[in-house]
Amino acid sequence: MANLGRSDYETAKGRLRTVLIAAALACAGSLLTPQGYLQLKLFFTVATIILFATTIYIIVRECRCPHCGKIIFIGALSATHCPRCRRSLTTGKKQKKSR
Ligand SMILES: [Zn+2]
Repeated sequence: MANLGRSDYETAKGRLRTVLIAAALACAGSLLTPQGYLQLKLFFTVATIILFATTIYIIVRECRCPHCGKIIFIGALSATHCPRCRRSLTTGKKQKKSR
């Protein structure tokens, strides 16, 4: 598989960010839909649920440490190093001890 300078984790992260933004928009849409537009409100609510389910699916399936397989759930978007094996999620290098 060709690696164009972006690791699998970064690709997953980009996808995760897109889905999260879409989920936030759908959630806002359902909140901002005025009373009386029940079908539209329902549509946004269902979209929110589906998008959040997709988010969890992407995290479980793809936001894993490429070295030890730990799922990076908390701070998946900002994490640069695996909390378990301390390797970089993008380059695989060990984190330097800074403390
Ligand atoms: Zn790891």
